[in-house]
Amino acid sequence: MQRKLVLCVIDAMAPAMLERAIAAGVAPVLERLIEGGRYVPDCVAAFPSVTPVCAASIVTGESQDAHEIPGMNWFHREEHRYVEYGSSFRAAQRFGIARQLTDTVYNMNRAHLSAHTPTVFETLDDADVRTAGTTYLMYRGRHRHEPQRDTALTRVASALMRHPVMGPRELFYADVFASQRTGCRSGLGMPGVRDRHSGCVSAYMVEHDLFDFLLLSLPDNDWYSHKRGPEAQAQSIGQADLQLARVMNAAGGVEEFLREHAVIVMADHSQAPVSATIALQDDLEDLGVLGPTHPSRAAQSSSSVEPRIAVCPSQRAAMVYALHESERDGMRASVVARTLAIEGIDLVMWLERDAHDDPREGVIASPAHGELRFAPGGAGGNVIDPRARHWSVEGALAVIDGTVQDGRLLTPAYPDALARVWASLTCRTSGEVLLSAAPGYEFIDWGRQAHVGGGSHGSLHACDSLGALVLCGVEPTVPAPEQWAIRDLAPVVLEHFGIDRLR
Ligand SMILES: [Zn+2]
Repeated sequence: MQRKLVLCVIDAMAPAMLERAIAAGVAPVLERLIEGGRYVPDCVAAFPSVTPVCAASIVTGESQDAHEIPGMNWFHREEHRYVEYGSSFRAAQRFGIARQLTDTVYNMNRAHLSAHTPTVFETLDDADVRTAGTTYLMYRGRHRHEPQRDTALTRVASALMRHPVMGPRELFYADVFASQRTGCRSGLGMPGVRDRHSGCVSAYMVEHDLFDFLLLSLPDNDWYSHKRGPEAQAQSIGQADLQLARVMNAAGGVEEFLREHAVIVMADHSQAPVSATIALQDDLEDLGVLGPTHPSRAAQSSSSVEPRIAVCPSQRAAMVYALHESERDGMRASVVARTLAIEGIDLVMWLERDAHDDPREGVIASPAHGELRFAPGGAGGNVIDPRARHWSVEGALAVIDGTVQDGRLLTPAYPDALARVWASLTCRTSGEVLLSAAPGYEFIDWGRQAHVGGGSHGSLHACDSLGALVLCGVEPTVPAPEQWAIRDLAPVVLEHFGIDRLR
């Protein structure tokens, strides 16, 4: 019989910190999974390496050129407004808590995530695999769930949280959705207690044999690492390990659990220390920056200048959108020139289009090294990357610290650089100009918050892009890629259940 499968996402789990937690003896379950399986210390995130983009890549197996979730904060061209998924509480306040919650809890899955990229839940639901999920940004499945009426959160936000959603067969989402009466409390889904809720409902599901596939989300490590810095993860990874132990103990212990379950544990991205900030909203103010107030409450610019651009900080990445189609190319040139001169900005990226407005080539520019131009090369490409993709490249490889050996492009400081940048540039919902911060820097969000003294993520750089991955009891038939990426795991999950997704 096919073993059940748990896909556990430990948000921001840094490989070096996982190794430290194991050496310190505080992560015995993760240690056991590595001993009995395969450890990948450099699984590459999406770019921007922020949770909404990465979560969508994990559940769909696609990049944002297909799944269309482009950032933590982005500008919705059709609705002419910002979408904010919760960079910080103060950022959410600037856009309106109700709007932020509606975008995050409902619209992200229902409207923003492309209908053309099925999630693992949807594909497995279609195959009658019993699916389950704990609170995770991405939950879209085939089973209808009504919100709970009688919890603290739904009482507080009853006007907002009254709509049903389509999720996995068993869905536990903060206090809002619960397909079983478990007795587990979510504490309003607040950071710091979310892992416990995930562990509690998952243990209940193991006890009652309620799933074949479970997405077990343990998000607190990211929150802790933002606050105290990535070095402090050894402690929060230990807390995540305790929740894994709790889930496994519901089956009688770790060994008993592993006899019946395969397990994948992965980070969505990593984190790097932050010591300085970039205030992009201020730096571009005189170009006319659209402020966060929703147009229905009278459009306001953050300056006295007529708004002509939208500025979207996503932690250590950012996007800038031209508000008027007719100004797109001119505005892009202005923003590129400005941003190349801002301290702390490492890379400035944009897309050049052909006469039919189709993508022609991507450009990655750095203040120190000039420009690198690139496009997917097919068989005629002049280099091949570690994921066996061909590219045509022209210009300064030093921009991505790249070298070419026998036609093989190596960019260890910016892993999977060209594919990640190409996916973000050609994403329908991305901005005209994309920015990646230098190590140590973070863009302040619209609530003027950053994580100075702590940690953050979002950039193209290896320091926050490479997360830990552990596979135990899953044996993909396709050869392991030389460079693993988070978008590789959805196909591994489907193959485990005998589903070969047509590509
Ligand atoms: Zn984070």
